[in-house]
Amino acid sequence: MRCLKSLFFLVAIVLAASTGIAEEPVDRGAITRIRDQGFNHSQVMDLAWQITEAVGPRLTGSPQLLQAHEWTKTTFEEWGLNAWLEDYEFGRGWVVERAQVRMLSPYIQPLEALPEAWTTGTDGPVQGPVVRANLESEEDLEEWSGKLQGAIVLLEDAQEPEQVDAVLFERWSEDGLEELRQYDIPGDRRGEWRQRMLKRFKFWEKLAAFLEEEGVLATIEPSSRDNGLVRVTGKRSNKDGDRPRGVTALTMTTEQYNRLVRLLDKEIEPKLEIDVAVRWFEEDGKAYNTIADLQGSDLADQIVMVGGHLDSWHTGTGATDNGGNCAVVLEAQRILKDAGLQPRRTIRAALWSGEEQGYMGSRAYIERHLATRPETTDPEQLALPTFAREQTWPIEPLPGYSEISAYFNIDNGCGQIRGIYSEENAAIVPIFEAWLEPFADLGADSVTMEKTGGTDHQPFGWVGVPGFQFIQDEMDYMGRTHHSNVDTYDHLDPEDLKKSAVILAAVIWHAANRDELLPRKPMPTEPE
Ligand SMILES: [Zn+2]
Repeated sequence: MRCLKSLFFLVAIVLAASTGIAEEPVDRGAITRIRDQGFNHSQVMDLAWQITEAVGPRLTGSPQLLQAHEWTKTTFEEWGLNAWLEDYEFGRGWVVERAQVRMLSPYIQPLEALPEAWTTGTDGPVQGPVVRANLESEEDLEEWSGKLQGAIVLLEDAQEPEQVDAVLFERWSEDGLEELRQYDIPGDRRGEWRQRMLKRFKFWEKLAAFLEEEGVLATIEPSSRDNGLVRVTGKRSNKDGDRPRGVTALTMTTEQYNRLVRLLDKEIEPKLEIDVAVRWFEEDGKAYNTIADLQGSDLADQIVMVGGHLDSWHTGTGATDNGGNCAVVLEAQRILKDAGLQPRRTIRAALWSGEEQGYMGSRAYIERHLATRPETTDPEQLALPTFAREQTWPIEPLPGYSEISAYFNIDNGCGQIRGIYSEENAAIVPIFEAWLEPFADLGADSVTMEKTGGTDHQPFGWVGVPGFQFIQDEMDYMGRTHHSNVDTYDHLDPEDLKKSAVILAAVIWHAANRDELLPRKPMPTEPE
């Protein structure tokens, strides 16, 4: 058997040599030290607790997020890294200080609802009848004009309840990963989402002005998750001072919302009392990113980046989205430092803000260090939030452009890393396969040609810098925690975070130490 095995090995070597494929080097000595630090001396759960429960919710522009940036900067510095904050223009800061809703009739009962971010307060308790009104088009606004003074408006129908046996917790199965490795040619639907956004934003502005003019007290929408979860972001309320603020916008637990609709259907008009207090922070208008360098050696001017977003929504404590993964990024840098592994290239960690408002932090970094594109002059585009605007050309590289090897992002919930999306970059597939092979025992060696969206790696790709997001186990992210009031420390699994930190440390170590920068795709010439 042994002979046969070595014969196969010999054939493999000869084949590799004859096809001209150089083996991607893997530093198993470093991996042993990384695993020892990450599994036997982990600090990741304490880091995660500091970010989530010591600091609290971290809406961009809020004092807590700034506190989190300062804490992460100090922590990096205590480990001997060079760390700093970079600022950019963001908009108004906002925190909610009180949110109480109760039914007054047909009977008295407290209800559970939370405000959208950047919504206005009620200026003390207000009382009014509940009205169900569809306000989805300009015709709707005309139809309801003059009929909503002093009302609390339900904006949607009752929601179909989720199936009681719906799967709320999932990990990737082997079959699922195999399917993910099979490439699907994308359809030709580039940029369509921008058109949809444009339409939606234009209408939301009209709706906000309408609600103010009509003297509506508040609007209520149902949570998009059942079982008492309140899933709320900030879709209509806005952080920019020059747009109509609208009225107090609340999201209510689905079950309680449905009850209000059913009472109205039976011609019983509920009456509610709402008391929402918010605080604005308008002086500064800035948001920040934490940046921390683990100094390189002979290639120190070249950069490998790793990061995730530190900002969260305002109702939970932003644990699975994305405080836990920020702890993983911190821990990966700590592991390398404490394992005594000095990289050849500088490894730069970035903890972004403004991700939830459209990758604002990472885009500000890119504009400052990597590449710029012309500002649009189209007034229609200027009315949109920056991330939703049509992309412009040419892309003008800055000096840092040729010095960055790649950016690795972690932000798909806090399930462990199972592999990586190679973003249609065929040249990088064998490199990733080589780096992840030593983590087959952790089920983390899947490499797919597919690209993925929705996280801070995307803006890097938009200017032609390799940006990657890992494949992660979903766990209860989409079922429960994503953008909901239970996005809390309780939903972080210590083993998952430890595995992710070890794998991440190994990936950035190998990227920092290989002879060449990582291969790039052609410069983008089409909007995405
Ligand atoms: Zn996120």
